[in-house]
Amino acid sequence: MSENTERPLNFIEKIIEDDLAAGRVPGGEIVTRFPPEPNGYLHIGHIKSICLNFQLAEKYHGRCHLRLDDTNPAKEENEYIDAIKDDIHWLGFDWGKHEYYASDYYDQLYEIALRLIREGKAYVDSLSPEQMKEYRGTLTEPGKESPDRNRSIEENLRLFQEMKDGKHPEGSYTLRAKIDMASPNMNLRDPALYRIKFATHPRTGDKWCIYPMYDFTHPISDAIEGITHSICTLEFEDHRPAYDWATSIDGIEHTPHQYEFARMNVSYLLMSKRKLLYLVNNKLVSGWDDPRMPTVAGIRRRGYSPESMKDFVSRVGVAKVEGVVDYSLMEFCVREDLNKRAKRLMAVLDPLEVVIDNYPEDKCEYFEVEDNPEDPNAGRHKIAFSRSILIEREDFMETPVKGYHRLYIGNEVRLKGAYYITATSCEKDEDGKVVRVHATYDPDSRGGQTADGRKVKGTSHWVSKDHCLRVEVRQYDKLFKSPNPGEATGNYLDDLNPDSLVILNDAALEEEASRVTMDDYLQFIRNGYYHLDKDSKEGHLVFNRTCTLKDSWAKQKAKMGL
Ligand code: ATP
Ligand code: MG
Repeated sequence: MSENTERPLNFIEKIIEDDLAAGRVPGGEIVTRFPPEPNGYLHIGHIKSICLNFQLAEKYHGRCHLRLDDTNPAKEENEYIDAIKDDIHWLGFDWGKHEYYASDYYDQLYEIALRLIREGKAYVDSLSPEQMKEYRGTLTEPGKESPDRNRSIEENLRLFQEMKDGKHPEGSYTLRAKIDMASPNMNLRDPALYRIKFATHPRTGDKWCIYPMYDFTHPISDAIEGITHSICTLEFEDHRPAYDWATSIDGIEHTPHQYEFARMNVSYLLMSKRKLLYLVNNKLVSGWDDPRMPTVAGIRRRGYSPESMKDFVSRVGVAKVEGVVDYSLMEFCVREDLNKRAKRLMAVLDPLEVVIDNYPEDKCEYFEVEDNPEDPNAGRHKIAFSRSILIEREDFMETPVKGYHRLYIGNEVRLKGAYYITATSCEKDEDGKVVRVHATYDPDSRGGQTADGRKVKGTSHWVSKDHCLRVEVRQYDKLFKSPNPGEATGNYLDDLNPDSLVILNDAALEEEASRVTMDDYLQFIRNGYYHLDKDSKEGHLVFNRTCTLKDSWAKQKAKMGL
């Protein structure tokens, strides 16, 4: 896998190696952080950022912090914090004792704000949010100074205290940095530092009714933690001057640096917590962990392995320019990994009964099959064979089309790992639907070898009707049918795929499946990769299709002449 092979350094590694060589890293220890805002579950895009930050720390023997950037109490929940931590652990990363919250720094941020006011570098503004926007100017026109900009230090201190004491309604006052209303960078036009918000915070409760803004909190949190390389996505490039302003406030000892890389986008997938939350809230999916969701919780439940996702993001690389990665590359990585590790089972998704008339009625014998032919260390397991078996309905045709090599009357096929059988007749219901096939077997073809060495073209997978487990199988497809959801109409909901979930209630699985757990990766031979779902109960197992087998769709289409 590409993770282990030599690859050129990415631009952030180059910066780090230069910084280390030039002695610019305090104590020689690289410190990064992954800073999610706990306002939703992590998605596949976040995996990119998690791997980047944790792997840089690993590679350069530094450390990576987990920092929950909890500056917006209105949208944040403890459920999200727990899910974020669990997902990062699932990916195989650990922040050890370095778990921090922006809210841990509220007292320090407040002290810094007071200091800025005392030094005449911040002021309390009574412009309304709308007015503030108006005064801010545009990219081509400078902003206008607020009439409150030259309020006295004493008055600023008094008003800020009153804001903190809950004496003023939301939106009535804002604490702003006094930087430069004419700056070509809009983020330096006296950015807001504190706003009034009467919201209960998941961690600080009702202690505060003023909350620091992200652009003030984030750089100072980095500085407090001694972050050396603060890595974020490109949309923060314009905020870098504000970041540098905040980390150079007098009294802040450590100066971290911000570096931006391109956000990872994958075709067919939405990577916006806001849009994903909409799908959840409107019950368009079953929850954040719906196996169709591009969330870490969703792909876990669907049966992707952490290794395959790490391989995927490492193949994508670290870029400076935004692009869209093909969904098929992600599936390729998933299949590569599952092919190596998935335990093979026989499952019949759309069963049709075949009665082998010359096989003794009360007899049952066991065949041994390999758990995984791709893995030399994999074991073997037993599968029961009896007179009445189930095969896929599509593996029998009463009147075969040209080139059909599977079972039809008079034709002989191999039952995988068992015997050769020949169909002799079929039974139909009143609608003409085939309900049962009769066949004979060749007792000398045990294990798939015949005495005369004759070959057959078709092989079917099968299970014994009286030994198999009847299970529910959820066949998932992409949640959106367009590579760029919403491109055509402007509304991503228009591109929801109505066939993204098909439930099969009567699938049959070999009895070995009763031993399967949610830690197992499975292949249902010829049908795809599957994973046990958490909805399973004693006596009612549920399996999710992780993905189809390699090229199965292309092959199927070719067969159907499409
Ligand atoms: P969203 O737009 O989905 O809400 P976000 O950027 O607001 O995402 P955060 O919780 O703030 O989500 O993200 C935590 C970290 O993950 C940030 O450093 C952010 O830059 C990074 N990140 C988010 N999305 C991606 C992505 N698609 N690719 C790479 N990194 C990402
Ligand atoms: Mg964000």
